[in-house]
Amino acid sequence: MNNEKQAIIIGAGFAGLAAGIYGQMNGYKTTIFEMHDKPGGLCTSWKRKGYTVDGCIHWLVGSNPDSAMHDYWEEVGLIQGRECIYMDSYMHYECPDGRVITFHRDIDRLEKHLIEFSPQDEAHIRRFINGIKLSIPFNQPSKNVSFPERVYKQLKLYSTFVTKGKQMQYWMKVTGKEFADGFKDPDLRNAFSEMWIPEFSILFMFFTFAYLSAKNAGYPLGGSMPMSKALEERYKALGGTIVYNSRVARIITENNKASGIVLGDGKEYRSDIVISAADGYCTIFKMLDGRYADDKIRDIYEKWIPFHPLLIVGLGVNRRFDEIPLSVSGFSFPLREEVVIADKKRSRLPVHLYHHDPSMAPEGHTTLTVMLETNYEYWKELHSDKKAYVSKKDEISAQVINLLEQRFPGISSQVEMVDVATPMTFERYTGNWKGSFEGWLITPENSNTIMKPMSQTLPGLDNFYMCGQWVEPGGGLPTGILSARRLFKAICKKDGRKFRATKA
Ligand SMILES: Cc1cc2nc3c(=O)[nH]c(=O)nc-3n(C[C@H](O)[C@H](O)[C@H](O)COP(=O)(O)OP(=O)(O)OC[C@H]3O[C@@H](n4cnc5c(N)ncnc54)[C@H](O)[C@@H]3O)c2cc1C
Repeated sequence: MNNEKQAIIIGAGFAGLAAGIYGQMNGYKTTIFEMHDKPGGLCTSWKRKGYTVDGCIHWLVGSNPDSAMHDYWEEVGLIQGRECIYMDSYMHYECPDGRVITFHRDIDRLEKHLIEFSPQDEAHIRRFINGIKLSIPFNQPSKNVSFPERVYKQLKLYSTFVTKGKQMQYWMKVTGKEFADGFKDPDLRNAFSEMWIPEFSILFMFFTFAYLSAKNAGYPLGGSMPMSKALEERYKALGGTIVYNSRVARIITENNKASGIVLGDGKEYRSDIVISAADGYCTIFKMLDGRYADDKIRDIYEKWIPFHPLLIVGLGVNRRFDEIPLSVSGFSFPLREEVVIADKKRSRLPVHLYHHDPSMAPEGHTTLTVMLETNYEYWKELHSDKKAYVSKKDEISAQVINLLEQRFPGISSQVEMVDVATPMTFERYTGNWKGSFEGWLITPENSNTIMKPMSQTLPGLDNFYMCGQWVEPGGGLPTGILSARRLFKAICKKDGRKFRATKA
């Protein structure tokens, strides 16, 4: 394999590391420049006073060894030796009258439970269940099955496309809020509203439950950072180079060809191709000064909606929570009265316990997080006054601990670690636009990107490419890998090389 073509990759998040891995596999000499001192970008966790706060992984699509995505995880060296566990439910919603809505992984159980909870909503519940069933053929693990079985499954998938394609297109255009509003029971309506982002297409909630029911979205024990380190290790083993603490300020262009980068300290590095796996807005409008943004791209950055930023309060508690059942995204409980936390009124508190992962806290202790949607501008303004920013974070953590007393009396005296991350933390740590944690939401406006992926190039600029969550609406770890893989297939094709990928 000849190694003469040099590629610079900006960002060592999942997409950047995967781009490096597929580049190395295909004979490109790659160097990743990462502004931080660690790999992984958003896929990260941090240690505080013996506790680990995880800022990312809840569920890993492709964890089932029979799924096609599992092959790709093997290629990038993520899944080998990693144990995934499967929770029985996605979420528990505690109602003000003490009843609990459980979003079971098992679809029949889910259907029965929801209809028992609200018989008047039977028709709409069946729509939800049918939507999940519609998505199941697309999520069925099918790798290790016999040839006739595989042919049968492919034909079934094809016939689902032909016969149910219209229904899928319909659901793609229905938002989470529109679907939730279809429930008559106020608790069920609120539970759906809490579980799914209002603007996000409901089809992807169906897909979520389809993945969970197929046991193809487990939680990898150890959490986020060990996965990022596994990708870094794989990349280095393939001969790749990562330069940390190196923020790319500018992409060099000559005669409308990308030819290198300039770091924040002014150092220049040249290459044959440049790939940005960093934030989309920063890449297009800052590193390239907006010179290659046509009306279509400007329209996207004006109209599409990024995932709303988060405020994460992480707590280390000297307490076990054995009475709380495991679930993918935790549980939420009603507050005695509405309160304002940061910029918004809240009547409930969502809690994610990490009592399923012993590596997150010392024996007998538990890490938990309270994740709340928040407004970027609110934090941006607050951040201009460092003292006010720090004291707001302190005020919020004290407030959250106080509110948790309503559900877990005595917890205040058991808290041993407090950590607050705001959209400013996300921005500082990963450079993501408006502190978004997963790039673009898939909404009715951009749902066509499911059938026709976004371009990975910019108009009028040669030798330049993008991969990662800003060119793959919906974001997530698997799309980071798929995006980098798709990119190197295209680059190899352009260079007349046969794309190849090997397992670690
Ligand atoms: C709370 C939370 C929960 C999540 N849960 C899940 C989940 O359960 N399952 C799942 O699949 N996904 C989940 N995600 C989403 C997932 O983490 C992201 O979609 C994914 O990690 C994005 O990868 P990326 O490589 O595209 O971008 P990023 O991770 O943002 O990587 C970009 C990298 O570029 C670097 N960079 C930026 N600008 C520059 C510059 N100028 N110079 C040099 N380097 C630069 C950044 O430091 C960063 O390392 C979650 C995310 C969060 C925050």
